[in-house]
Amino acid sequence: MAWGIVSACHGRSPYFRQLEHGRQQKTGRRRGGTGTTLIPTYVGQATPSGTIEAGAYAAMKQDILEGIRAALPVDGVLLALHGAGVADGTEDVEGDLALAVRALVGPGVPIAAVYDLHGNMTDAMRDACDLTLPCKLYPHTDFHDRGVEAVELLLEMIRGGLTPVTAMRRLPMLPYIVTTQDGFIPAEVNDVCRKLAAQPGVIDCSWFHGFPYADIAAPCPAVVCTTTGDAALAQRCVDEVAQWIWSHREAFRPTFPPPAQGVALALSAAEGPVVVNEYADNPGGGTPGDGTHLLRALLDANPPAGTCCFASINDAAVVAQAQRAGVGATIRVSLGGKQGRFQGAPIEADAYVKCITDGRFVNRPGSMFEGVRFDLGAMCRLIIQRVDVIVASRAEQIFDVGPFVLHGVDVTGYKLVAIKGANHFRAGYRTVAKGIISVDSEGLSTAAIASFPRERLVGEFWPLSDEVQFGGGADVA
Ligand SMILES: [Zn+2]
Repeated sequence: MAWGIVSACHGRSPYFRQLEHGRQQKTGRRRGGTGTTLIPTYVGQATPSGTIEAGAYAAMKQDILEGIRAALPVDGVLLALHGAGVADGTEDVEGDLALAVRALVGPGVPIAAVYDLHGNMTDAMRDACDLTLPCKLYPHTDFHDRGVEAVELLLEMIRGGLTPVTAMRRLPMLPYIVTTQDGFIPAEVNDVCRKLAAQPGVIDCSWFHGFPYADIAAPCPAVVCTTTGDAALAQRCVDEVAQWIWSHREAFRPTFPPPAQGVALALSAAEGPVVVNEYADNPGGGTPGDGTHLLRALLDANPPAGTCCFASINDAAVVAQAQRAGVGATIRVSLGGKQGRFQGAPIEADAYVKCITDGRFVNRPGSMFEGVRFDLGAMCRLIIQRVDVIVASRAEQIFDVGPFVLHGVDVTGYKLVAIKGANHFRAGYRTVAKGIISVDSEGLSTAAIASFPRERLVGEFWPLSDEVQFGGGADVA
């Protein structure tokens, strides 16, 4: 028995950890403990940014298909995808890819697909695959668990014990991206899904939160349910969850304070460290990471020495300037604010070069991407107006205390820890932060979803319009 495994977009994802349990064969094939042979075919990953160039996508698609073709015949295929890929000329990358894989292996070979919950689910994604399993947690600390589920279900299909059917229901809304941790509305949606999934005959009931920053026809949430062949049951489940989300949509309206207000709140907190995260410049959502809105608010607050630290602003030129001047020098910097009109003006200031590092660290246990190695290029720690500022040569959201520790900063001694990111940091700071304050401003990942101009959206979506109707059996787009 053999199946091919394809991973795209989230190449660092832990699905491949399963392969480590297998034994490497001379052929490159690895034999699992269930009499199966796993054939990894392709892995690719990138921090999100702009639209994928058509040629780049075509090359990756060809590599993926060639990898599977070389492994044929296979008993099943597991695709580990993101779900919100957009390439020039291909608005639905994952749907296009899944359909191509289906065409290659034929109708009789089961295909399971696991996704990031920020995927934008399409008809093509549903129709090409037998199983569609988005992760359930944000921070996405359950990638591995979903991979295990997918493998087990795929095996069941291969053995003939399962013939799944999948229903999907999209919602005409573009909510900002919200964590699934307790106290937030997505946790309640997960509870609704969990109750429905406990019914006999339901294999999985989940929802894609969607990725509203993509300018496509329907970058919206979608509920997906798979049953053991009962299409009506699957449809009832997705309808119920979708209706629940729709009736609670006001809970998806952001209420973040601006940076100056968030900084003041954090500095007046009884106990630190309080994490203040810059939602609008989240490199995990594709932004340049050189926004200065939060850093400027921090400097304007004029905090005492040793109370505030910040990581990390992406400015390779300033890191190079620090390298040339050396540790112990004071340099005049024009920091950040260079990559677009939403990033804020550069910070013009004198900066003391405290240390310079190679920018390499490993995510800590319990963090998102636990155990994954990061390399943000050369980095430095500057002290600007008594604030410790970590500068990187690449854009990346902050997942845990690693980037601070690398530069000799123990965040537990600080009152305010300012970072770039939306929600993934919540896993790594779970036991560190005494409080979390998300702030929003203008920026390419602002929670003010309605502020973006759109060319490709089809139909009416809340909160762009409050007049949108939802109900009955009609899907959007
Ligand atoms: Zn995600």
